[in-house]
Amino acid sequence: MSTRFELVIGLEVHAQLRTETKIFCGCGTRFGAAPNAHVCPVCLGLPGALPVLNRRVVELAIRTGLALGCTIQSRSAFARKNYFYPDLPKGYQISQYDEPIAIGGELTYASDEGPRTVRIIRAHLEEDAGKSIHAGTGAGERHTYLDFNRSGVPLVEIVTQPDIRSPPAAAEFFARLRGILVAIGVSDGNMEEGSLRCDANVSVRPKGETELGVKVEVKNLNSFRFLQRALEHEWERQTTRCSAGESIVQETRLWDEAVGRTVSMRTKEEAHDYRYFPDPDLPSIEVSDAWVEAVRDSLPELPEACKRRLRDEYGLSLAAAAQIAESVDLVRFFEETAKASGNPKAACHWITGELTRRLKVDGDAVGSAGVAPAALAKLIGLVESGTVSTSAAKEVFDRMYGSNREPDEIVRTEGLSQIGDQDELAEVVAGVLAEQPEAVDRFRGGNAGSLGFLVGQVMRATGGRANPKLVNELLRRALVDD
Ligand code: ADP
Ligand code: MG
Ligand code: ZN
Repeated sequence: MSTRFELVIGLEVHAQLRTETKIFCGCGTRFGAAPNAHVCPVCLGLPGALPVLNRRVVELAIRTGLALGCTIQSRSAFARKNYFYPDLPKGYQISQYDEPIAIGGELTYASDEGPRTVRIIRAHLEEDAGKSIHAGTGAGERHTYLDFNRSGVPLVEIVTQPDIRSPPAAAEFFARLRGILVAIGVSDGNMEEGSLRCDANVSVRPKGETELGVKVEVKNLNSFRFLQRALEHEWERQTTRCSAGESIVQETRLWDEAVGRTVSMRTKEEAHDYRYFPDPDLPSIEVSDAWVEAVRDSLPELPEACKRRLRDEYGLSLAAAAQIAESVDLVRFFEETAKASGNPKAACHWITGELTRRLKVDGDAVGSAGVAPAALAKLIGLVESGTVSTSAAKEVFDRMYGSNREPDEIVRTEGLSQIGDQDELAEVVAGVLAEQPEAVDRFRGGNAGSLGFLVGQVMRATGGRANPKLVNELLRRALVDD
């Protein structure tokens, strides 16, 4: 692959706003209803039906803009974007065009390669279209069905500057943005249900060049993986063409997951093709400073700020803090565990380690994992007091997970308490030494590392329940004194 080139990416992210009703009518927005169950004259685009703007939608757009550091415009307006499509019954989509509700923000976050900033050009409101369902394969049995449940569902579209430089960075940005939209409650972020999707604009240019290359827009990517793979494919395709001296055609493409490549959908479209004009049915949106400030006050802590607070307040590493800050539920779980145990480091260790691992494997949410922060705090206490060894504690945790059982009860009924009894351990130690004469010789011959091996053997013989400090002591004593 050519390294003479640089990849340039800008994203247009569409998020469905969390409302009970559509943007311009009273129809419901709940996913999964029977086709055309949520329709009325307005969202079916029947003649004479008048749209009325849903106030909640504006509030959620303000929320989105503020969370992304945008300026909220005191005045914004809707335009008609005219085009023909069977699932767009009015023949136009109502969208904000030259007067969006929010402009000029940025999203900064820590990535593996240091801090990253992606500038936001704008966030604007629009309505979603309906859905065409193409069914049947053989001649004469092919039909297109139309479901207008999505028609008029409120969307916020977030447009970035072309600041992204690699496919993984695009996927990461999209994931961060999703995290924020979910954290502030404006979107459920459900990508399988179409609540969040993005169009990726992508071009290549020779390294060092400052002008942008001709871009291709890949439409409707509804997973982080599809986004990344589509961009990887475009990078390959565009650099191959450029290296061969061919030019890139400005066009819209679609990602075909089945064959793992993008395919052309239509060539270059221009804004004037849509004949945008102000929607005469809708007055402009006026947003007062007081409204903006009230929304600002109601915003929760955002992941980036939360991460820094967890580091400063609890002494966590930035990496661990970032992992926890990713989810509001994990943050709550962590803070409760840290407070109840008085040991934030241990709480963090358990939560970013065993708990996260089990949540992933079992596909559970924190709230339904069957482990309460108070119970985890107790387990941390049992390790601190030496009642259970760290390795036995893992076993206790495994049994706590999904069961809502208390750790002390598990330790008691399953005999997992730490063996701290000198005589009992001395016997095990003696047995191990008798079985491992070679390791004993190696230690005495100056190989200090073989002590670790012997400790491991004792731990194994006790099923991980021996107090490792005591085992160390007993082994040393036995090896040196004999
Ligand atoms: P359009 O009018 O075709 O929608 P815009 O200029 O509004 O184009 O930009 C839409 C999106 O495309 C933005 O996210 C922007 O950052 C991105 N973009 C624009 N030009 C390029 C380019 N040459 N390469 C990559 N992304 C681009
Ligand atoms: Mg576009
Ligand atoms: Zn309706």
